Amino acid sequence: MDKRLQFNVWYFVAAFIALTAFQYWMASSSVTERIAYSTFLQHLEAGEVATVTVEPEQIRGSYRTPQNGNSYFVTNIVPEDLTDRLAAANVEFDGTVQNTFLSTVLSWVMPLALIFIFWMFLFRRIAEKQGMGGLMAVGKSKAKVWVERDTGVTFADVAGADEAKAELQEIVAFLKQPETFGRLGARIPKGILLSGPPGTGKTLLARAVAGEAGVAFFSISGSEFVEMFVGVGAARVRDLFEQARKAAPCIIFIDELDALGKRRGIGGFGGVDEKEQTLNQLLAELDGFDPRDGIVLLAATNRPEILDPALMRAGRFDRQIVVDRPDKTGRAAILRVHLKKVQVDPALDIDAVAGLTPGFTGAELANLVNEAAIRATRRKGEQITMDDVTEALERVVAGMERKGRLLNPHERETVAWHEMGHALAAANLPGADPVHKVSIIPRTIGALGYTLTRPTEDRFLITRSELENRMVMLLAGRAAEDVHFGEVSTGAADDLVRATDIARQIVMRFGMHPVLGQAVLDRERGGHLGDDVFTMPQRDFSEATAREVDLAVREALDTAYHRAKALLVDHHDDLAAGAAMLLEHETITPDDFPPLRKRDG
Ligand code: ADP
Ligand code: MG
Ligand code: ZN
Repeated sequence: MDKRLQFNVWYFVAAFIALTAFQYWMASSSVTERIAYSTFLQHLEAGEVATVTVEPEQIRGSYRTPQNGNSYFVTNIVPEDLTDRLAAANVEFDGTVQNTFLSTVLSWVMPLALIFIFWMFLFRRIAEKQGMGGLMAVGKSKAKVWVERDTGVTFADVAGADEAKAELQEIVAFLKQPETFGRLGARIPKGILLSGPPGTGKTLLARAVAGEAGVAFFSISGSEFVEMFVGVGAARVRDLFEQARKAAPCIIFIDELDALGKRRGIGGFGGVDEKEQTLNQLLAELDGFDPRDGIVLLAATNRPEILDPALMRAGRFDRQIVVDRPDKTGRAAILRVHLKKVQVDPALDIDAVAGLTPGFTGAELANLVNEAAIRATRRKGEQITMDDVTEALERVVAGMERKGRLLNPHERETVAWHEMGHALAAANLPGADPVHKVSIIPRTIGALGYTLTRPTEDRFLITRSELENRMVMLLAGRAAEDVHFGEVSTGAADDLVRATDIARQIVMRFGMHPVLGQAVLDRERGGHLGDDVFTMPQRDFSEATAREVDLAVREALDTAYHRAKALLVDHHDDLAAGAAMLLEHETITPDDFPPLRKRDG
């Protein structure tokens, strides 16, 4: 809301109240005497009244000669039939008039006030929507800059990102003593780009740098720059740097830089001009400041590949720090950080939990700990136990249990055989992850049943036979249905998708097919989030090769399926016993059913 406008409105209200009050006061000023009705009647009888004006509730009039120094009087009317009796009884009597002052004021002021409040509310909303001071303030807006004097986060709160921390340590040293740092003429990088999948702790790291160095932390998110008015984003960038310069030494952190710094010309859906202007302003500011001022620019993105190359050239965001998903030790360290905040059973095996969570990011691990704590609270436990964590993990991976979903007996039986097929394949295939738990309790995400495996270690290289074994395990669900019922169901749809993906990758990406050879036919596209919506998958091989690929994929799937079936026929007794046990207990582990134990070799 415009400050001046607001001022004027209050003036108006004040003047109105003053005026009303003045009138009221005038009406009852001392020139006019308020007298009792009986007194009026006496004056009337004595012939002292010169004129009267009769109003509905009162009588005003003047005396022939001033009475008690007053020439005028006002009196309230009392109904006439009473007056005679009252006069006869020699009572002093008077009427009273409703005090209308307050209601008059209210009837005037209330609507005005309501309109005013409504109007203000409306403007607030508009202003909020645009994140600025109303329609009139375009370009002069106070950017939504978040300044934290002390982030309260240190490197101790960030676990498992040791390389990133080591690199950022340098920045901390610089921020602590900008003067001595340049002793040998070394130049601190102007901008540092943290890149990595979502939830790996980029934002956390940036705040930790500020916390470690004890400097102010200016942060703004790239997505906030997406404005509807051209020029607003650029003004915000200017504002941000202006404010930061005053607060140096400090950190400017631009989160989700990709929302702002998308390669110019990519994805031409509206707002292109606006984004380009904002980006250009950012580039200009980047060139215009000197790191020796004590400002360090940090940015984070999970899609570095779509950033405009101009952002990444030397002298701008010229250092890139990759924050990747943590490995097993990293995960254990992150779990320790988050478990420190809750009550934990000392017997909880953190390393085992880390082993169960390959590919989890810091944010997912934090969420897992929270889910476990919720579960422990709900069962009124004192501490978080391994059971809580396992349950929370299943919830995160497979969704909530849906006990209410009723399968008919035949469906349940199908699911039991299907899952036992997966589980037995996992137990008997060399190199497959050992089985952790098999269940036929339907879950909200995905399947009607599920087989949880427990990876023993993080894998960075996978051999061809291991990939093939994975396909066998994926197809073993359907194979089990086939073996027992002689018919297959739709329950395997998801397994088929994943098996097909593996087959295609073997052929097209890993160059593992004997005929198609080492040629890569399908590059990894996109970044951490997968394909960019705007780049069409392109094929740079011939129709003939395409046909060969299709044949090779089909053949790989066929082979895997037949291997799965052969394996299950071999273990038919275990399969039948396991399926029966599942139908009875719904959830079983290798301890309940020893054939699920890993058989190595
Ligand atoms: P990003 O910005 O990379 O998407 P965040 O920094 O916002 O991820 O991380 C979200 C949350 O996940 C953090 O607040 C923290 O609780 C947790 N987290 C992520 N990475 C780590 C880590 N390395 N150590 C400890 N906690 C982490
Ligand atoms: Mg973030
Ligand atoms: Zn399956």
